[in-house]
Amino acid sequence: MSADCIFCKIVVGAIPAKKIYEDDDVIAFNDIKPMAKVHFLIVPKLHVETLKDCDATHQALLGKILLLAPKLADEQGLTGFKTLINTGREGGQEVFHLHAHVFGGGAMLPKI
Ligand code: 5GP
Ligand code: ZN
Repeated sequence: MSADCIFCKIVVGAIPAKKIYEDDDVIAFNDIKPMAKVHFLIVPKLHVETLKDCDATHQALLGKILLLAPKLADEQGLTGFKTLINTGREGGQEVFHLHAHVFGGGAMLPKI
């Protein structure tokens, strides 16, 4: 837990979020400013700032996040979806707690 991290606060319930999934390692919740009809974030409970800060010790966690994307997308009624992990300021990251975006259901982002 990092004291001034928004996603750590969501993890411990100090800030509300529209949660769609939770287990011991990860939570998923709807993005506060959706950029598609369906837009949720898959977030590890562990505070890791960026994908660049991950190493072999995070391999299972990263795999879990990726495998959750199709499962949760399916539960949200999506037959296809986009995933995005922004890394670092240059990569467009705004919240420095690792997360994967999942978008679907129309009004999608361009391919970038
Ligand atoms: P990034 O640019 O870091 O990849 O994306 C951060 C995302 O987190 C943005 O899409 C933003 O709308 C979302 N976000 C920021 N603060 C909150 C919050 O307090 N609650 C929720 N649900 N989403 C947030
Ligand atoms: Zn955090």
